[in-house]
Amino acid sequence: MKEQTLALIKPCAIAKHYQGLIIHDILEAGFEIKAMKMLHLTTEEARAFYVVHKEKDFYEPLIKFMTSGSIIALILEKQNAIADYRQLMGKTDPKSALEGTLRKKYAVNTRHNAVHGSDSLENAKKEIAFFF
Ligand code: ATP
Ligand code: MG
Repeated sequence: MKEQTLALIKPCAIAKHYQGLIIHDILEAGFEIKAMKMLHLTTEEARAFYVVHKEKDFYEPLIKFMTSGSIIALILEKQNAIADYRQLMGKTDPKSALEGTLRKKYAVNTRHNAVHGSDSLENAKKEIAFFF
């Protein structure tokens, strides 16, 4: 059965003009783009989106980063979309990401890591509702 996931292209990737390459790689990997929009998160919105990390030491710098520029939000659809998009993204730290993954190709470091993807069916539903 087809599944949907929420993807974000983060400010660092947009600043480097990687959004076209990232969308190309997503389509090449067999995902259908069901919705897409560019927006600039407010601090309140970014805090709410990453609320699960609010006790972490990287939380405030993450909020600063995610509000530092525009992002692109996408609803991606295919069979097994959530796990397959996590695989296409690669590990959080690009140094550990496999060759060919989005983070290996387009990320700078663990914080400035180019893309986001939902990590479970429950979170995909929540995150899609958050943006669309
Ligand atoms: P995302 O949720 O963005 O898809 P992820 O699931 O791989 O990434 P999480 O553990 O959910 O990683 O962390 C959310 C985001 O917080 C990361 O993508 C990264 O931008 C930032 N982050 C996570 N760990 C660190 C860290 N140790 N130092 C700096 N930033 C971090
Ligand atoms: Mg995550």
